[in-house]
Amino acid sequence: METPPSTILETKVTTLQGVGPARAALFSALGLHTIGDLLRHLPFRHEFEHAEEAVATATLFVPAEGANLAVRGEIVAVRVTPGRKARVEATLSDGSGTVRLVFFNAPWMKSKFHPGLRGIAEGKAKSRAGYLEMSNPKWTALASGSETNTASEPASREARLRPVYAASESISSALIEQTIASVLVPACAAIQDPLPSLYRTQHALPPLGDAYRAFHAPRDLDELAAARRRLAYDELLALQLAVAIRRRLREEGGASVLPTSARIEKEIFARFPFKLTKEQLRAFSEIASDLGKSTPMNRLLQGDVGAGKTAVALCAMLLAKSHGAQSAIMAPTELLAEQHFRSITKFLEGTSVRCALITGSLTAGQRTALRKQVKAGEIDILIGTHALLTDALEFQHLALAIIDEQHRFGVAQRAVLRSKSGVDRTPHMLVMTATPIPRTLALSVYGDLDVSVIRSKPLDRQKIHTRLLPSARANEAYQFVRTRIEQGEQAFIVVPAVEASDLGLKATDTHLAFLQAGALHGLRLANLHGQMKPEDRDATMTRFLRHELDALIATVVIEVGVDVPNATVMVVEHAERFGLAQLHQLRGRVGRGTKGGVAILIGDATTDDGHARLEAIRSTDDGFKIAELDLTIRGPGEFFGARQSGLPPLVVADLTRDLPLLELARRDAFAWIERSPRLADPAEALLKRKIIHLYGEAFGLGDVA
Ligand code: ADP
Ligand code: MG
Repeated sequence: METPPSTILETKVTTLQGVGPARAALFSALGLHTIGDLLRHLPFRHEFEHAEEAVATATLFVPAEGANLAVRGEIVAVRVTPGRKARVEATLSDGSGTVRLVFFNAPWMKSKFHPGLRGIAEGKAKSRAGYLEMSNPKWTALASGSETNTASEPASREARLRPVYAASESISSALIEQTIASVLVPACAAIQDPLPSLYRTQHALPPLGDAYRAFHAPRDLDELAAARRRLAYDELLALQLAVAIRRRLREEGGASVLPTSARIEKEIFARFPFKLTKEQLRAFSEIASDLGKSTPMNRLLQGDVGAGKTAVALCAMLLAKSHGAQSAIMAPTELLAEQHFRSITKFLEGTSVRCALITGSLTAGQRTALRKQVKAGEIDILIGTHALLTDALEFQHLALAIIDEQHRFGVAQRAVLRSKSGVDRTPHMLVMTATPIPRTLALSVYGDLDVSVIRSKPLDRQKIHTRLLPSARANEAYQFVRTRIEQGEQAFIVVPAVEASDLGLKATDTHLAFLQAGALHGLRLANLHGQMKPEDRDATMTRFLRHELDALIATVVIEVGVDVPNATVMVVEHAERFGLAQLHQLRGRVGRGTKGGVAILIGDATTDDGHARLEAIRSTDDGFKIAELDLTIRGPGEFFGARQSGLPPLVVADLTRDLPLLELARRDAFAWIERSPRLADPAEALLKRKIIHLYGEAFGLGDVA
């Protein structure tokens, strides 16, 4: 049974004590209008706050190696030691004794202190020859002793976990905390829990209201952990329910059934001048098994650059052709589409398979003619760019759509393809990517995808040697580039920026001029970056392919898979600024030919972590290991276009840590949708509204609403 809507959660914040119109406006700026908004404004972390101690007591128990401490008192002296390592010292007295507060490299701290000022210092205290010293403690000023009496100060603190909220310049985390605390208990009591109690007991999760209460004001770590688990589970469950509904809708769409057979496969494999590797064969058999079903395939084919994904994709397209059905393959750029067209037509020489290329550069007449052929079923494999989706193109029977290196392929495009397919069935879909997706992401952001993986590369691929160089030795890298170019090879030089800026980063234009005037004088150089018009970019890339250029000074636009077998050297400037997966992708560009590639990463890692990352990329060539590492270091938000996916971010759940919880939520969600495909039960209304609100658009759940 649904309980009536709780009014306290919809009540405006202005009704709260101490929140007038001015303050309410500040809350509004943070998106906090009602008490419910406040409650959903969860702290992004919690800090441990120590109980205040009397200095005399603390002096007795703080050991030589130090202990955390909070002390309240009055500043009695301030001193600055000048010099390069400026140090500010303030002496704090609480009547029972004194503590010395020492601030290193923070000369501005001096202005924060004056004798008579009262406040709380917290941090690690060490015992030094009979007195206590705190280095760089956290300082919270209260008031000057001369101005107020201490009676108006907040009461002495107990040890506790303090919530830390996203705040603004005008509203502090502490004020948000105070405001939330003033309504926390009644507001939490009004929360309806959409989760059936069966799940709660099974997974030992606290009720939702309790979880909110404990997350805002935890009594201890256990309570906080339980609250976090509940809130994270809810987030993941909502996401997985959306995924499960999406999958359900897709399955109801129906697809062409394209079974394979030994005879068909023999013919398919005969197209290649090489033997497919074991992993290519396994990936194909997974795809073929999907194609044999009436449920539309939705599969991701992952394989490092050069793993041979295109061959596997072609096998799938040939399987479709053996049933008289059409396939389309979509590449992100014209250049890549042309490259696919060239290699695919080569494999198909001497067969009756008809292959065509559709790009923006066709004339209107050519386009019309091609459209006719496609509609009449005279083309078996159509290769193109996004033009495939936008063009007024219609197939006779499109059964399989393949997307290459496209991270942002979504539900909307699928609907477009279905409408063009020429039959009332959803095309099978295969997405190829060189960026390995860690399991957590495959199950969440891409939770609707099955995954096939090609882990190894065909044997005759060349190894890429990776070297690290500090920026002071960059010249050695360019001398090496020069030598290779003089031997008839080509190079990529990657910089992080297009235009020079205050950040002091190397940029394409200035770096080209710099190299032209110096190390690479007299060589044929050109820029390539994302701010160029696509035609200009393609033109430059084509000149490079034809070896009319020796080196490209580029941004990461070259990351996506163009094959230039003669390019054997890559230099990456400011390598420490790039993601690991990105560096790995980049260097894959110079391993495409028969000669060994060399990648020189120039960078000055300033932290141990930064150094470890560069060392990791130097020492391993395993794209999967690198992707996992990247995910732990950078977090999923940055990863693999997760941000561009259009999904709202997870607030409490953390994909780098919550895999077990994610799997639990996934199992529950899929079982739930099995039982209740449209969440049509009135008891599910609240949950359904939440899912449509969060994921309706991104997952195209309109039919369900
Ligand atoms: P990816 O798209 O995964 O980066 P490609 O499909 O472009 O890789 O393959 C890279 C190169 O390896 C191509 O020239 C392709 O013809 C070749 N290749 C693919 N599979 C094999 C194989 N089994 N044995 C030898 N060469 C292969
Ligand atoms: Mg490729």
